[in-house]
Amino acid sequence: MDYLPIFCQLRGKACLIVGGGDVAERKTRLLMQAGASITVSAKSFTQPFYDWQQQQITLIEGEFSAQLLTNKWLVIAATDDPVLNQTISQLCEQQQLFCNVVDSPKQASFIMPSIIDRSPLMVAVSSGGRSPVLARLLREKLEALLPQHLGKLAEYAGYLRRRVKHYYQTINERRRFWEKLLVHDRLAQALANHQSQQVEQITQALFDAPLDDRGEVILVGAGPGDPGLLTLKGLQQIQLADVIVYDRLVSQPILDLVRRDAELIFVGKQAGFHCVPQAQINQTLLEQAKRGKRVVRLKGGDPFIFGRGGEELETLFQANIPFTVVPGITAASGCAAYSGIPLTHRDYAQSVRLITGHVQKGSDLDWQNLAAERQTLVFYMGLSQAQHIADNLIKNGMAATTAIAIVEQGTLAKQKVITGQLHQLANLANYAHSPSLIIIGDVVKLRTQLRWFADNDVAIH
Ligand code: SAH
Repeated sequence: MDYLPIFCQLRGKACLIVGGGDVAERKTRLLMQAGASITVSAKSFTQPFYDWQQQQITLIEGEFSAQLLTNKWLVIAATDDPVLNQTISQLCEQQQLFCNVVDSPKQASFIMPSIIDRSPLMVAVSSGGRSPVLARLLREKLEALLPQHLGKLAEYAGYLRRRVKHYYQTINERRRFWEKLLVHDRLAQALANHQSQQVEQITQALFDAPLDDRGEVILVGAGPGDPGLLTLKGLQQIQLADVIVYDRLVSQPILDLVRRDAELIFVGKQAGFHCVPQAQINQTLLEQAKRGKRVVRLKGGDPFIFGRGGEELETLFQANIPFTVVPGITAASGCAAYSGIPLTHRDYAQSVRLITGHVQKGSDLDWQNLAAERQTLVFYMGLSQAQHIADNLIKNGMAATTAIAIVEQGTLAKQKVITGQLHQLANLANYAHSPSLIIIGDVVKLRTQLRWFADNDVAIH
C-alpha cells in the first residue's frame, strides 16, 4: 500500500492553499465543504475567491512566505510554478506538515482521491497518482451505481441507532434489522421525498414484524437483452438480491451482473420441457419471500407489458408480502430503436398498438380497428400466428403491400431484421426464431435511412 486512505476532520482547522487559479479554486471549494478555516496565498485570484472572502476564507495577496505555514494542519501547493510548489513541499516536509502538490504526487505527502459524496457516506477512489483518468472513470461508475438517496439513508441510520440498540438485545439481531432497513426501497424513496410520516410507518413496521418474516419481492424489468438497457435501479436491485427468479427472455449478459452469491432459480421453458406453470412461479416467489429473502423476479422487457407481472403481484398482495416494481424497456422500444424504425412519426403513424399474438382461445382481436390507417402495430409472441395476423388485417382493408419487419433477438449482437410486405408475413416468419417481434406499418420503410445497428439484415422485395 503506497498511501493510507484516511478521512480527516478539518472543521475549523487552519489550512493553507497556495495559488489563486482554477486548480486552487477546486481545492478551496473542497476544503470549504469540509468546513476548514482556509487561508489562500497568491499573487492574484480568480473572481470566486473574492466572493468566498465573506465566508470563512482569508486571502493574502502577494509572494508566498514561509511564515504562512505556521500553525497549519494541511497545505496544498497549487501554483502554476513547479519550483515554488517544490519549495513549499520541502518546507512542509521539514515541519512535518502534510502537503499536497497538485499534478505532482511524487512531491506530495498526501494525495486527494476522487470522491463520491453521499454525505455522511463518502467513497474515495485513488490510483495512487498512477492514473487519475482511471480513478475518474471508476468514480463515474460508482457515482452511477450508488443512488443519490444513500446519504439520506446513512443519516437516518445514524438517527435510528439508539432506538435499534434499545430494541434488539443481540448484535446479530441488530445486523439483520439493518440489512433489511438499508435495502428497503420504499423507505429510501420516502426519505428522499421527505415523507416523514411514511418513513416512520415503514420503520415501525420493520420493528414490529418478526425478523425472519421480512422478505419482499422486487419485480424487475431486465429490458430486451442488451445489458446496457437495464435501468440503474434494476442493476442495483439484482446486485442486492438473495434470490433471483428469472426466465428465458433474460439474457446471459444480464445474468452475469447479478450478485455472485445470489441463488438463481430458472422458471422458463427449457428445450423439450414445458414452462413452469404460472401458479408454480407465484408459489416459488411466495415461499422465498416467506423465508425472509429479498427476491428479485427478473423478467424480459417490462414486467407490466405481456409479462404477467400483475398476476404474480396479486398473489403476493393476497399473502401480504411487500413488493416493488422496477420498469424495463419493453421489446417494442428496444427493437424499434435498434432496427431504426421509429414507432410513431408525424407523417406515417400517430399511434402505436402493442398487441399479443397469443390470444386466449375463444377471444379474438378487433381486426377492423387494427387495420385502420396511420398507426403502427407491434405484435408480441406473433410468429406462430403470422398467417392469421396477415389474413385478418388484409381482410379488414389493410394494404397487402404494407411494410412489415420481423425483429429477432432485438438489441442483442445477434439481432436479425427481416423486412418485406404484409402478404409475405407468414412466409417470412418461417425464417425467424423466438423471441421475435413483428412491426407492421409505414414507419418500417424508414429503416432504410435510419438503420444504425450492425445487425443481420434480410430484406425481401
Ligand atoms: N415483457 C416483455 C414481453 C414478454 S412476451 C417485454 O416487455 O418486452 C414475449 C415476447 O416479447 C416474445 O415472444 C417476443 O415477441 C417479444 N420479445 C421479447 N424480447 C425480445 C427481443 N429481444 N427481440 C424480439 N422480441 C422480443
